[in-house]
Amino acid sequence: MEQIYNFSAGPSVLPKPVLEKVQKELLSYQGLGISVMEMSHRSGHFEEIIQQAEHLLRKLMNIPDNYKVLFIQGGASLQFSMIPMNLMQQSQHAYYVNTGSWSEKAIKEAEKQGEVNILASSKDENFTEIPSINTSDIDPDAAYVHITTNNTIEGTRFTDIPDTGEVPLVADMSSNILSEAYDVSKFGLIYAGAQKNIGPAGLTVVIVREDLLGTHQKELPSMLNYETYANSRSLFNTPPTFPIYVTQLVLEWIQELGGVEAMEKINREKASLLYNFIDESLMFKNHVQEESRSLMNIPFTTESEELNKKFLEEAHSKGLVTLKGHRSTGGMRASIYNAMPIEGVQALVDFMKEFEVENR
Ligand code: PMP
Repeated sequence: MEQIYNFSAGPSVLPKPVLEKVQKELLSYQGLGISVMEMSHRSGHFEEIIQQAEHLLRKLMNIPDNYKVLFIQGGASLQFSMIPMNLMQQSQHAYYVNTGSWSEKAIKEAEKQGEVNILASSKDENFTEIPSINTSDIDPDAAYVHITTNNTIEGTRFTDIPDTGEVPLVADMSSNILSEAYDVSKFGLIYAGAQKNIGPAGLTVVIVREDLLGTHQKELPSMLNYETYANSRSLFNTPPTFPIYVTQLVLEWIQELGGVEAMEKINREKASLLYNFIDESLMFKNHVQEESRSLMNIPFTTESEELNKKFLEEAHSKGLVTLKGHRSTGGMRASIYNAMPIEGVQALVDFMKEFEVENR
């Protein structure tokens, strides 16, 4: 099979050894003669899988004991609603930092549940940077402060996590969870759709400090209440069993590579390789302010739409696929999540060099 490097923003590349293991176990999980997909979520075998997935995530992210790990469906987008529903308490107001399209979607949903104050925004800068945050502006009675640690579309990332004091910090880590080491104790809640750095689509991971559970005012539907998941170890109803199984394998893979710190080191190398070339290039540009550059999603462009199109076509024919930028930004975007090997980034840089020489 021809070597393909998939730069999709999500669902995205999964580690090859994981896919091979899935393939090997697809028809008969551990010699049982049935697939994980065909197994009851109440079976001992599946309970082992979900417990091991939680155990590995706790270990890899060093999650303190006073945090619950929840496996939920509905994508990160459902969390845009569940967070305000569950956490907006007496004060009924929360702060959001607006750093791009996904933050804006989160804000829109939160506004349906309570009052939203924009603590900082880089909208006027076209979201090419992470705005500075004045933490002294935060009313200590607020329900929480929401940030998007990595902005998948704009290619920015928080390099400094704001200290919000007693007010819980809530983070959308959909596109950079497990890619760099975070101190979980600085956050009240972390959430991430699985389909970039965790596993297949269909699963969302929520890590929440226990004291934030049960503080909502209104009676919530069971499936929208974090307590339901916390009290049943995410087995209140049928969870997305197959994505949880693949997630467990991805987490094992990260552990075997040396954990999140080792992953971060490789991710920094991969990102530098591409940024260094773009910075030297006379043809390719990345418009993000240097300090705010993402390690996971790197948008870039040439000087013309015509050249962008040519680049994308030729890249595709060389096995460098899904490099098209988001429809809102145009140009190109290389998503280089954990599972993208450094060889893939090197192949992209080699091709960009060649393309530049031939088209100038
Ligand atoms: N937040 C961020 C940062 C994302 O990148 C995405 C998906 N690309 C979402 C939220 C929405 O996730 P989902 O499609 O799982 O609802």
